[in-house]
Amino acid sequence: MLATKKVPFNKAQMEQIIEKYPTPFHIYDEVAIRENARRLLAAFSWAPGFKEYFAVKATPNPAILRMLKEEGFGADCSSMTELLLAEHCGIAGEKIMFSSNNTPAEEYEKALALGAIINLDDFTHIDFLEKQATIPELICFRYNPGPLKKGNDIIGKPEEAKYGFTREQLFEGYRIMRDKGVKRFGLHAMVASNELHANYFVETTKLLFELVVEISKALEISFEFVNIGGGIGIPYKPEQKAVDFSQISKGIKKAYEQMIVKNGCDGLKLYMECGRVITGPYGYLVSRVLHKKTIYKNYVGLDACMANLMRPGIYGAYHHLTVLGKETAPLDHLYDVTGSLCENNDKFAIDRLLPLIEPGDLVVIHDAGAHGHAMGFNYNGKLRSAELLLKGDGSVELIRRAETVADYFATLDIPDGICLPSKL
Ligand SMILES: *Cc1c(COP(=O)(O)O)cnc(C)c1O
Repeated sequence: MLATKKVPFNKAQMEQIIEKYPTPFHIYDEVAIRENARRLLAAFSWAPGFKEYFAVKATPNPAILRMLKEEGFGADCSSMTELLLAEHCGIAGEKIMFSSNNTPAEEYEKALALGAIINLDDFTHIDFLEKQATIPELICFRYNPGPLKKGNDIIGKPEEAKYGFTREQLFEGYRIMRDKGVKRFGLHAMVASNELHANYFVETTKLLFELVVEISKALEISFEFVNIGGGIGIPYKPEQKAVDFSQISKGIKKAYEQMIVKNGCDGLKLYMECGRVITGPYGYLVSRVLHKKTIYKNYVGLDACMANLMRPGIYGAYHHLTVLGKETAPLDHLYDVTGSLCENNDKFAIDRLLPLIEPGDLVVIHDAGAHGHAMGFNYNGKLRSAELLLKGDGSVELIRRAETVADYFATLDIPDGICLPSKL
């Protein structure tokens, strides 16, 4: 028996939703996202001032951000539009972590104006920040441990990664800031992405705790927080197991007591900036089968494509597929499941065993709730799909309409307009 994954709707319900909102679209499960947010906060309830700053880039939709704000999350932003989105949702001040890199001056200005926590990615940005604006009273630096830490496949090795300060630069950076009169300090690292081992996060946190103790002593400063970044993975494959938040929490708590409390640094707050693990498993890309073809392989063509979800195309990432109404049918047909881009990597699945599929079937692509719609693009003139929110009572709210042909042409100067087919 092959492992399976569940969906929070059945075929009849989905056909009803589709009557109003044509495929393809992304749909997010509100109840599941809220429950998950609460699980995370509960797991870390021991940690002083624990905060999760939701990485906006994962699912930059105001309905999602407001929901997570209600659950007590802040926002982790790294661009002007993400800052504007957070501001629009009423997230401001130190509820915003600005973890950017290669940052334009105006973005620092905006982040400072909002009172966000500035997480500097590079040593030279200290001068840059001072020239552009003022030095804020609270400053955070991003640490890149280089060869001291192994990375993983998606983010790569830390020593090959463009982010952060070296260890030596951190000491120098905090000294400069101290001498400029800064009193409040934070330390950040994000060295893994889609990591499924709880212990990896415990080890990263230990690295940061060690540094906090060392730097505090060397420079006679005290740290207000460590931000252990995002990167908690999700079980894209049905046989994989979700990371247990309480397991990460347990390991960190032990390290906190042994390294932080023992060294007189207690009160140090613990922050996180996860995106994927918060919304990823609770978003689905729903699409309909347009065609089947058989040449050297068997193909199933969907009305969604890589422009709706590009993870399989760019990373060869696995996304589980469910054919609605055929959940219990035998998986005895081998297919490549494709979109319609003129790119041969526009495939949601390669050599996947699925039930017999017919045109008109509904295919649900799992784990599209983070870095899914957000990574969408317009190549080949494809339009970004709608985003829907599935509520607890089974009703559906449109939280982003689908792009139209008019949106696609909106940035062009075409005085007479484009003659649109009436249906679009
Ligand atoms: C992408 C990113 C995150 C979120 O990563 P997830 O894998 O979605 O948890 C957090 N912080 C920074 C700086 C990032 O670039």
